[in-house]
Amino acid sequence: MTSPSPVTADARPAFDVHRAREDFPALHQLVHGKPLVYLDSAATSLKPRAVIDAVEDVYARDCANIHRAVHLLSQRATARYEEARDKVRAFLNAKSNAEVIFTRGTTEAINLVAQSFARGLLREGDEVLVTELEHHSNIVPWQIVCQQTGAKLVVTPMTDRGEVLREAFEDKLSDRTKIVALAHVSNALGTVLPVRELSELAHARGAAVLLDGAQAVSHVEVDVRALDCDFYAFSGHKLYGPTGIGVLYGKERLLEQMPPYQGGGDMIRSVTFEETIYNDLPYKFEAGTPPIASAIGLGAAIDYYRGFDQAAVHAHERAVLQYATNALESIPGVRLIGTAPGKVAALSFLMDAAHPHDVGTIVDSEGVAIRTGHHCAQPVMEHFGVAATARASLGLYNTTDDIDALVRSLYKVEELFG
Ligand code: PMP
Repeated sequence: MTSPSPVTADARPAFDVHRAREDFPALHQLVHGKPLVYLDSAATSLKPRAVIDAVEDVYARDCANIHRAVHLLSQRATARYEEARDKVRAFLNAKSNAEVIFTRGTTEAINLVAQSFARGLLREGDEVLVTELEHHSNIVPWQIVCQQTGAKLVVTPMTDRGEVLREAFEDKLSDRTKIVALAHVSNALGTVLPVRELSELAHARGAAVLLDGAQAVSHVEVDVRALDCDFYAFSGHKLYGPTGIGVLYGKERLLEQMPPYQGGGDMIRSVTFEETIYNDLPYKFEAGTPPIASAIGLGAAIDYYRGFDQAAVHAHERAVLQYATNALESIPGVRLIGTAPGKVAALSFLMDAAHPHDVGTIVDSEGVAIRTGHHCAQPVMEHFGVAATARASLGLYNTTDDIDALVRSLYKVEELFG
């Protein structure tokens, strides 16, 4: 039995990382004969037992399609799916469930906005403004729609620390800017962008704002009304939830005006060969059978995550990141890539001794899982003049012991290659 977690003055339990680690079955295994040290949560987070059980329970008990049947299993599955939507709404502080669209993930959510919102809006010579540190998922959908419409993709440069500065952004904003698409948090560098401030500037020029929250939802507070963004996209699998499910938040006023992204079942009110009347929000954007169990699993992930004091979790992650930063900086021949003040959860680095892929392979043999490559952010790599980096990234379950294990494995790389 685990001991009761410490209780703070306001009676909310403080964050007890060792207790939380017990919730993640994947952490308790050996890889290559060594205890797993998982430092790849920016790629995907591990799943707590509560999420695994919720998904299993859907298939074991409430296995039915939603929205269309009168039988009890379908009613239960539908209720659970819609409860999950309600949990997302509360998590994001959206105004209504109509503003919460389930997608396959961040990528699909951004493509939806590019095709359903931007394609009808953009005219030749209009501009879509992104930043240099975007994930490919927040670049390519805009390139496609620019090709389709004759609009231009404009890029706000970042600094050598990996920051996006207000002045640089203002410099690129123009009266032709119709859409601004920004990472809330960079996946390759961990930079937290000043998205509230940049949104305000964009809105003052009449541009709509999409925020890519894939790396933000599990590390910083997200309140779409406080951020005043028009669209917010995230993936369930980076928030301790299942793969195959994500969310597009959109302001109802905009979603109402947008045409469907895909046609099919569930997104219609009535169909004849002459005319189809589309369904209400949010169903208008949810064609076909959705990933029901994954959506319910995402609801369970949100319950799990919100069961902790968010500020305490974030403070814990910041402390581990600071420890990791100091530790890596003290290793001769290690260079950190991305040093923006206030950054969160991810440390990209290079070693003089070895190529990032060799670093990844050696540390893996020591049981330490990190990511190597371009992290789907090739323009970031280009900025720093490298093809790849090694990246250690954090989840709520990481400890300073994990960082010690990483450091030991990096000394092993040094031994072998140095
Ligand atoms: N944006 C960012 C910042 C990301 O980190 C990722 C995932 N690595 C994505 C978008 C795409 O997310 P998904 O693959 O879950 O659609």
